[in-house]
Amino acid sequence: MNDNEHVLSSTGLSTQCIHGGERPDPLTGASSPNLVMSSTFTVDEPVGFSANALTDAAPFVYTRWGNPTVQQLERKLALLESGPDCQCFASGMGAASATFLSLLETGDHLVLSDTCYAGIAEFARHGLPRYGIEVSAVDTSDVRAVEDALRDDTRLVWIETPANPILKLSDIEAISKLAHDAGALLAVDSTFATPVATKPLLRGADLVMHSLTKYLGGHGDALGGAVIGPSDIIGRLRREAAIHHGGVLSPFNAWLILRGIATLKLRMAAHQSNALSVARFLEDHPAVKRVLYPGLPSHPQHDLAKTQMENFSGMVSFQVDDGAAISRKMMSSLEVIHYAVSLGHHRSLVYWLDTNELNENSFQFDSTGLARYREFAGDGIFRLSVGLEDAEDIQADLDRVLPG
Ligand SMILES: *Cc1c(COP(=O)(O)O)cnc(C)c1O
Repeated sequence: MNDNEHVLSSTGLSTQCIHGGERPDPLTGASSPNLVMSSTFTVDEPVGFSANALTDAAPFVYTRWGNPTVQQLERKLALLESGPDCQCFASGMGAASATFLSLLETGDHLVLSDTCYAGIAEFARHGLPRYGIEVSAVDTSDVRAVEDALRDDTRLVWIETPANPILKLSDIEAISKLAHDAGALLAVDSTFATPVATKPLLRGADLVMHSLTKYLGGHGDALGGAVIGPSDIIGRLRREAAIHHGGVLSPFNAWLILRGIATLKLRMAAHQSNALSVARFLEDHPAVKRVLYPGLPSHPQHDLAKTQMENFSGMVSFQVDDGAAISRKMMSSLEVIHYAVSLGHHRSLVYWLDTNELNENSFQFDSTGLARYREFAGDGIFRLSVGLEDAEDIQADLDRVLPG
């Protein structure tokens, strides 16, 4: 525990973003966090050399077990999500796979959002069955579909809200009740929302996962991932996934992400206001058939967005005709927005996601699932991560490449 942690637990989110997990260095008085790159640490009494010997009171021994800079980030994230403990990983996928592989075993059943980050969809549907774990992919924006999918052997429900790439929402409170009644845990990939918008643990979820690569880091220069939740589960992730599988976060990336989080609340407010203005511009554009943004009244789940999100984040998806051709024009003609994957950076990013390609490679919907996805996405959508440039410049850039 940090000396100031009990004070910070009752402060506002901006104060927590800045001071959480950190304190001046006791040796030097340094006000900003030290970057400790050391892989090993001198000890002054014998420390057991096994993951099982790792206790909360253990000193730093080796950076795969724990590192002072990474620990500052873990404490900050736990505070921001109002959770007891946090474990960081080398990437969001590292955090997700650690959760699946540590909490599930042969014979267990997983209920998964049928629309989610492609890497998670692919790993859950192709990787986990090899370990004898059964996976049901359902439309978790429909609470009844979740209820129907739950079974006696369901151990984990994994939702992503808002979900990549069509920004469908799932009702965390309703699903957490259903999951708990069935004896399962609920994990929420809250990467698109961030703790500024939604705190899943306060809505009944057991675990919250982030790709720190996105809004939390915020500057597009460090991969990272994290899981926040109860100490016993996080302890298991630390021993099994971090120490034994080994995909831990580099202290340098932790230091960059700590610096990014300091401005999280300010950045999310600016992302939201830019996204709203760009989404309205796109809704009025003759070449655009449909805009999806949780902050627009036209979003089919705008009411849920208003109860579950205190900030609508910066992700906007839009449908056009002949998106593949427009995407080629974007690659050569955009001047402000980068044509690139990823999201949550200060720079605006856009990418074309073809429905058939995404379905074949990642989601593999059944026919009703595909029809429901097409209701949102048609033949494909542009996923636009609205950055922190001036909104007029982002709009002018889009206007340059959209027909009409
Ligand atoms: C990017 C992303 C991930 C994976 O994170 P990485 O840091 O790229 O491994 C998982 N979930 C969501 C929603 C994401 O956007």
